[in-house]
Amino acid sequence: MDKASASDQGTLQTIIDFLPGGITLFNAEQRVVVCNQNFRALLEFPDSLFADGMPSLFDFALFNARRGEYGEGDPETLANQVCERARGMKPHVFERLRPNGTILEIRGEPLPSGGWVTIYTDITDRKRNEETLRRVKDMMTAAINFSPTFIWEIDAQGNYTHLQGVEHILGFAETELLGQRRSATLCGPNGCPGCEVGKLMQARQPIERLVVEAKNKAGATVWLSTSAQPVLDKGGHYAGYRGVDVDVTEITQARQALEQLALHDPLTGLANRRKFSDRFQLERLRQARVGLPLSLMLVDIDHFKQVNDNWGHIVGDVCLKAVADVLVSHLRTLDLVARFGGEEFLVLLSDANAREGALVAEKLRRALENKVIETGLEAQPTLQITASFGVTTLLPSEKLSLQAVIERADGAVYAAKHGGRNQVCSVGSAAPGA
Ligand code: GH3
Ligand code: MG
Ligand code: MG
Repeated sequence: MDKASASDQGTLQTIIDFLPGGITLFNAEQRVVVCNQNFRALLEFPDSLFADGMPSLFDFALFNARRGEYGEGDPETLANQVCERARGMKPHVFERLRPNGTILEIRGEPLPSGGWVTIYTDITDRKRNEETLRRVKDMMTAAINFSPTFIWEIDAQGNYTHLQGVEHILGFAETELLGQRRSATLCGPNGCPGCEVGKLMQARQPIERLVVEAKNKAGATVWLSTSAQPVLDKGGHYAGYRGVDVDVTEITQARQALEQLALHDPLTGLANRRKFSDRFQLERLRQARVGLPLSLMLVDIDHFKQVNDNWGHIVGDVCLKAVADVLVSHLRTLDLVARFGGEEFLVLLSDANAREGALVAEKLRRALENKVIETGLEAQPTLQITASFGVTTLLPSEKLSLQAVIERADGAVYAAKHGGRNQVCSVGSAAPGA
């Protein structure tokens, strides 16, 4: 080696010793021209292999074959096969699992001179991480597919940027929703005004299992339990939300059905005593805040026993439903009508003083009197019934239990019955206008 090439060799050695992976440069005679320390360390070649200068490819291959690097077989034959393959060298990349469990990526490139360069990279950690990542992804996909769940991400404008598993919940393919506004796809073009999820998102707050009503692709109601967290970009700025929605339609509808059963009268669909009592307590609290009176009305059908006796219980039931319809259809939505007993109904009139209570009762009395009830009987196709109305008004200052208020209203009904039925009687503290 002349002086110049010795200096080139030194420079080359210094450069490749700085490189992170293992590097070898073979010449056309399959001898190592240069290799770096990383190569010797990665492949655990002992210094003794280099004692007589740079080994040949055959020396390396034989050493490798003897320590099982190429699997089973006669070491000399295996080493010769390696050398044979190297003679027809083409650019190549392959991975080798070493007996000690490490995985090397081996990349070779032929050189114009007839030799070749090979780069060895330890990819054991990368492979392990890839495997872990793949397993986690598979587990997540399985969890999403096997449970009524989908995951999503939206950008700062509220548009979907990522979705997984949505099709089996909402019927939309992921591609149909990507780029679309989440609130619009769930609740229609105007979103869901006043929705808790929207409010929390405005405030950039986490959302924990909030149950919201949404529509699927077919327009059917789906109840979703939403949990989500705001996402920040690298600069710490708000970048959207990431969340998970669980389909809780079945359980929500079952709960609603149970609630309906527990709090409503099955014949008329009106509130039952329990719901009326809960609402009365709430109304009393509200009344204490706003300082307005409330009125309570007890309605008892006149001579109802005769209806049953003359036309049978089924017609009696038809009449009870008709009374319920008349009461509900002539009241404000904030008033509550309940079936209190057999043929008795209770009405809670929010913010109504005695005069207003009496006026409403009179309106209802007249509406019922004029109601033509279809019986379904040939002998008596229609019926008309009346009821007696007892109204009482409760001032915010009065401390009375519901029981006591009902008793007061019952006294008014009693008076109406005695007065000839089909009339309104008021009783209570309240002077008209109170
Ligand atoms: P009054 O004018 O004094 O109120 O007379 P009334 O006949 O309405 O009074 P009473 O309390 O004597 O009778 C109420 C009747 O209501 C007795 C009962 O058969 C009937 N009733 C109670 N619950 C139901 C029901 O669910 N369906 C039907 N068809 N009838 C019922
Ligand atoms: Mg009665
Ligand atoms: Mg009656």
